[in-house]
Order: sequence, then structure tokens, then C-alpha cells
Amino acid sequence: MTDLILRESLAAARKRLSCALASAGRPADGARLLAVSKTKPAGMIRAAWQLGQRDFGENYVQEALDKQAELADLDGIVWHFIGPLQSNKTRTVAEHFAWVHSVDREKIAVRLNDQRPAALGPLDVCLQVNVSGEATKAGVGLEELGALAERVVALPNLRLRGLMAIPAPAEGLAAQRLPFARLREALEALRTRLPEAPLDTLSMGMTADLEAAVLEGATLVRLGTAIFGERTTP
Ligand SMILES: *Cc1c(COP(=O)(O)O)cnc(C)c1O
Repeated sequence: MTDLILRESLAAARKRLSCALASAGRPADGARLLAVSKTKPAGMIRAAWQLGQRDFGENYVQEALDKQAELADLDGIVWHFIGPLQSNKTRTVAEHFAWVHSVDREKIAVRLNDQRPAALGPLDVCLQVNVSGEATKAGVGLEELGALAERVVALPNLRLRGLMAIPAPAEGLAAQRLPFARLREALEALRTRLPEAPLDTLSMGMTADLEAAVLEGATLVRLGTAIFGERTTP
């Protein structure tokens, strides 16, 4: 993808988000774009940064580290880890990311808390929720969410910001909205249960279902394909 095409696709993604917010009757700053750059070269991230994009999402630890090293000169860049997280990778993630969206069990949360360097301040985290039942294995179930959130809130080096979900693919706006509505309701319930936590984030909506997510209150939409084009490598 050339820088010119990236410029156009990023502008189109921004327009798409602002139209979705307007149709939902929400403020223009109600949600921001997280550019999902997995499998894409550092040069594309640099080009997006030059166009004002600051939040980037990565799924694979080693790939992300290589790109971060190459892009260390980019001021204000914010790295989000959004992929499945194994215990043996928590230290690297705690040391090299500002956000983790995929916390779904206590063991991972405790390790991230223990391994977060004090100098970096608390790590912002979202709990990944399995809102589509058996369709995907990642994510805490809705029944266990409250208990996990209470444990995470007690960890001083983590800041629980909200919830993330990757629903099973669905056709049509109405069907797409259902799991996002469930995630919104789950966040509302957590706010009541944990009034002291800064629960301001619904990380939901990807290229295929951004509009549905924004209608249900998404505050951070994770767009990959819409910004950087199709991915060829896994
Ligand atoms: C790859 C990925 C995305 C982006 O998906 P697109 O369909 O390319 O927009 C968003 N969130 C997560 C967790 C991902 O792994």
C-alpha cells in the first residue's frame, strides 16, 4: 500500500467513524480509532502517525517489539496489545505497551501487575469478554466477569478501563448489535459494582461491524483492514 492510498483509507476510516457517531446521536469525540497494524510493516505505522494517528494495536509480541524498536522516535505513539496473551509473554507486554485489551483471567492480570515497571505508571487494561458463547474460546464469561473485575481493580499497577469483545461474525446491523449491547450492559453493571474504577472504555467494533458497535456505545474501535488493507500473512 502506498502512502497516498493509506492517506485515503485513513481519511475514509475517520469519516466512517464520524458518520457512525453522528447517526448514533453521539458526540464527535465519543469514540476514537485504534489502528490495528498486525502483520503490517513499520513504515505503514510511521505513515499513519504522520497523518495524526496515535493509537496502534498489535497482536503478536515479537512482531510488535521489532516495530516498536524501529519506531522509537515517534512521539506520543500509544501501543495497545490486543492479541491472546500467554503467561510467558506477560513481562514483555507489561514493559512495552500502554494498554492490554485481552486480559481474561486472574493469573494473567496478576503477572502483568507484578511485572509492570513502576516508572511507566499503571498499565491500562480492558477485560476481554466472551459475549458470543461458544463461538470463540477467548474471553471471560459474563458470569465470571464481576469477580474477575474485582480482583483486577485491587491490583495497584493495573488500571481497569473497561471491556473488550470480538463477537462471532454476524450479518446485518440488528444481529451485530446484540453482542455489543450485552457488552455495554456488562460495563454498566460493573460501574455500579465498582464505582471507584475509571471504567470509561468499550473496545468494540472492527472493519465489518463498526457501525453496530458505535450504536451500542463503543469508545475505541479497532480497525485494521479498513485502514491498512487486507492482511495476507496470518
Ligand atoms: C485483527 C484484529 C482487529 C482488526 O480487524 P479488521 O477486521 O481488520 O478491522 C481488531 N481487533 C482484534 C482483536 C484483532 O485481532
